[in-house]
Amino acid sequence: MAVQQNKKSRSRKGMRRSHDKVAVPAVIYCSCGEPTAPHSVCPACGMYKGRQVIEKKQATE
Ligand SMILES: [Zn+2]
Repeated sequence: MAVQQNKKSRSRKGMRRSHDKVAVPAVIYCSCGEPTAPHSVCPACGMYKGRQVIEKKQATE
């Protein structure tokens, strides 16, 4: 087993773990009111940037 040669200080541990935080997923709200991921087609209405990209059964004709 590999054994560390020197003790990592609390400061060093904190520096290493500064990148460990889980990023909060970005959420935007579509014009239909549904929360969606940014730069992606809305899964509820199939709209992206104000135009219909995917036809949905529930979409108003
Ligand atoms: Zn939508």
